[in-house]
Amino acid sequence: MSRIIAIANQKGGVGKTTTAINLGACLAVAEKKTLVIDMDPQGNATSGLGIDKEEVERSIYDVLIEGFSPADAVIHNVHFPYLDVLPATRDLVGAEVELVNRKARENILRDALTALRDQYEYVLIDCPPSLGLLTLNTLAAADSVLIPIQCEFYALEGLSQLLNTVTIVQKNLNPRLQIEGVLLTMYDGRLNLSRQVAEEAKEYFGPKVYRTTIPRNVRIAEAPSFGKPIVLYDVISVGAKSYLSLAKEVIARKGSRKGAAAEVEAA
Ligand code: ADP
Ligand code: MG
Repeated sequence: MSRIIAIANQKGGVGKTTTAINLGACLAVAEKKTLVIDMDPQGNATSGLGIDKEEVERSIYDVLIEGFSPADAVIHNVHFPYLDVLPATRDLVGAEVELVNRKARENILRDALTALRDQYEYVLIDCPPSLGLLTLNTLAAADSVLIPIQCEFYALEGLSQLLNTVTIVQKNLNPRLQIEGVLLTMYDGRLNLSRQVAEEAKEYFGPKVYRTTIPRNVRIAEAPSFGKPIVLYDVISVGAKSYLSLAKEVIARKGSRKGAAAEVEAA
């Protein structure tokens, strides 16, 4: 069974794209067939994975607006045989407006992915920093949402808006939608502030907060300019270790959910 995970937080700069790239790569390293979908018009997940946006023939825009099948836009074997990418280019900026007058405009991505999702164990979708139609399409298509939180002042501010949106989507578009997990990014255990944010997040989200935290690590910030995920750019860095550890946790959670479902069925 595939799991579609939206990586969302309407705040910019919290580590959504970095997580889409690096969690995607680490899942692929673990031989889990993974698709990364870039839903951000900035296309940073696309370029960070080494895809030249100028050379992209078809993108997520063509899927959402022109009705192409995602299979026609997927780029296969990006760095790893288990990693595919559905890229974004600048024209996605217009999609938000172009979608407004479409029928069932929130369900276009979900419908487009039905034929494709079973080819993957994980589909990670990198959201733009807004709660507009592109994010709504993503939440409607997803099984769950992974929320990166940057460990800084006001980290939790604005989260209620995101959680409200999740509730609205659950009520109106996608009752299956769950919180996949909450990821503390740019964490520095030496700083009171980081520890405070971690505590607040745990109070609020309990065991949904991943045990793995992603440290602030310059190698993580450098890697995208080489078009490489951190496990290829510098595999012995703490950044690479942390994303590998996150991938392990994500895989373990999927396994335990499967176990729980099997128990219910057996009972
Ligand atoms: P978002 O997609 O939420 O806007 P990004 O993933 O693009 O956020 O990250 C914002 C910036 O912070 C980028 O320049 C990225 O390279 C940098 N960054 C992200 N995570 C880390 C980290 N753990 N350590 C250092 N820099 C990071
Ligand atoms: Mg981003």
